[in-house]
Amino acid sequence: MKKKPLIAIDGFSSTGKSSISKIIAQKLGVIHMDTGALYRGITVYALQHFLEGNTINIPQLIHHLSDIKLEFKSIKGHLSLFLNDTNIDPEIRAPKVAEYVSEVAKQPEIRNFLLCIQRQIAKNGGIVMDGRDIGTVVLPQADYKFFLTASPQERALRRYKELKENGIEADLEEVKRNLLMRDKIDSERPISPLKQAPDAILIDNTHLDKKQTIALILSYLK
Ligand code: C5P
Repeated sequence: MKKKPLIAIDGFSSTGKSSISKIIAQKLGVIHMDTGALYRGITVYALQHFLEGNTINIPQLIHHLSDIKLEFKSIKGHLSLFLNDTNIDPEIRAPKVAEYVSEVAKQPEIRNFLLCIQRQIAKNGGIVMDGRDIGTVVLPQADYKFFLTASPQERALRRYKELKENGIEADLEEVKRNLLMRDKIDSERPISPLKQAPDAILIDNTHLDKKQTIALILSYLK
């Protein structure tokens, strides 16, 4: 039997990474892991327990990392994220989580904590993992690496439509501001910043829809 591939799909927010990765994984018969959901899951916990005024008490959060159990469970063919045995799929997409997640994700202790979970899941191969540092840090040995980008205006529109479709009130300018803020924090943090791995294939999908992006990625896979 052929070895199942390890595929890393990194890139900017709202380039469609997760939904594209999910479909590619289905087509290849391998699992998909949305690593952004893990950072969002920690942020949900932080907002529940350590929000003081407008800021998260980061030292307290780090001190209590061992109280956090994050697991993906398959429910009707869909992987749902559970935080201490509670399904948090609806919460992780909330604008409030998007507001705080990059601050949480830049902490080295939190990245190390999640690194173990990510590598554990990928250890048997056969995975499409999407995130910011998969090709550079989490799985530098991946068989294929892609880096997705698109114009900020197009990305903001996509995220805005997605929020609306999920019944979440949103303002386009506010969505764009949040995307740009996260791009900045994610790209400038000293530990595992968002950046293209030297051996990753760059895909700008500003003018490509999901289907076209998927077809392009599949065309690179042998
Ligand atoms: O992909 P998504 O937009 O859900 O990611 C949310 C945030 O989680 C990112 O803006 C980034 O701060 C963080 N993240 C990360 N490394 C990853 C995946 C996500 O730092 N591998």
